[in-house]
Formats: sequence, C-alpha cells, structure tokens
Amino acid sequence: MNNIYIATTNQGKVKEFKQILADLSIEVESLLDQFPDMDDVEETGKTFKENAILKAETYSSRYQVPVIADDSGLEVTALDGEPGIYSARYAGEAKNDSKNLEKVLAKLEEKQATNREAAFVCVMAFANPGHDTLTTEGRCEGSITTQPQGDQGFGYDPIFQPKGYESTLAELGPEVKNEISHRRQAINKMVEQLKTVL
Ligand code: IMP
Repeated sequence: MNNIYIATTNQGKVKEFKQILADLSIEVESLLDQFPDMDDVEETGKTFKENAILKAETYSSRYQVPVIADDSGLEVTALDGEPGIYSARYAGEAKNDSKNLEKVLAKLEEKQATNREAAFVCVMAFANPGHDTLTTEGRCEGSITTQPQGDQGFGYDPIFQPKGYESTLAELGPEVKNEISHRRQAINKMVEQLKTVL
C-alpha cells in the first residue's frame, strides 16, 4: 500500500486528522503538501456521504493514490437540520467561520427556539484506485449556546456544547475534542474497516 493522503484544504481539519491518526499510530500525508495545485472539488452532492465520496474519488483518480476525504457539518434540530451540507458557506461563499456561527445564533433567536439541540456529523470516504470506496459516519451530539465561547478549534466550535460537558468545544480544546468528535468517531470506524482491507 502506498501512502494514504488526506484530502482537504481546511487547515483546521488537517490538524485534527493528523493528531487523531497519530494517536492511532497511522501515518498519513496531506494531499495539499504533495500536490500544491490541488484545488477544492465542487460539492454538488445532496448529502454528506455523496460529497465525501465525490471528493475522495475525484482526488484518488486524479492523482492515482489512496485518499481519505470527509464531508462534515452542523445539524441544528430547530433549524430543520441547517446548516447541514452548507455549513462551510452558510453565510456566503467567503467561508467565514464567525459570520456562519452568528447566522446560526441569529436564526435561533429569530425563531425564539427553546430546543437548542444540534449534532456535528462527519462522513468519511476512503478511495483507492481499482478498489471499492469505503465510507463511515460519526456523530457528536450536543447543543447550541447563546453566545460564542472559547477560541480553540474552528468553525462552529465556539457555539457547540457537547452532551455531558458545561463548556463549548472551543473552550475544551483539542485533547477533549479529538476524543469525542464526529471526526474521531468516523476515523475510528474507518480504521476498523481499513484493517480488513489493508
Ligand atoms: P466541509 O469542508 O465541506 O466538510 O465543511 C465543513 C464545515 O462544517 C466547516 O467549514 C465548519 O463550518 C463545519 N464543521 C465541520 N466540522 C467541524 C468541527 O469539528 N468544528 C466546527 N465546525 C465544523
């Protein structure tokens, strides 16, 4: 088996992938480091799974290497699952983390929502030229705070309080986050599947 490449241009995700996989003694490289011309694949899928497969298979066939890609996002129950697959660009194409989370808070306020339940979802896809693509899903349940708290992590971490904790993921920091996150759950399941095929 050649090296496995992680395909994402999101530096927050690259960091977490590397930390989690190092904990599991699996070495991966960043596709962006190896192929600096790598650009974003247009996410035309209607589900996290479709987009994760699209990204992994596009890069794997373009560069002829094994690739892991994920598609992830936040689902807020009172917003009928929004921002969902549009999480990265919820407040517009600029992919601005603070504008995105302010939009979630504003919409919940507008609706005077008492139910603040939410979940982070991550679907991971492993594509290897000449082989079937594998997928796994991880979830992290929690709730949305009334204001941003903490400065660690990325994306919606400052407004997401995981179940069983009194702080947001941005306050809890990488050690706790990487133990309980949706990405961690999806990676654990993927490692189990990879053991059967590698
Ligand atoms: P993707 O790169 O298309 O999968 O978009 C993922 C988007 O979902 C990110 O840009 C964030 O807005 C959000 N997201 C996914 N995972 C996390 C996380 O672990 N913490 C905070 N936000 C996340």
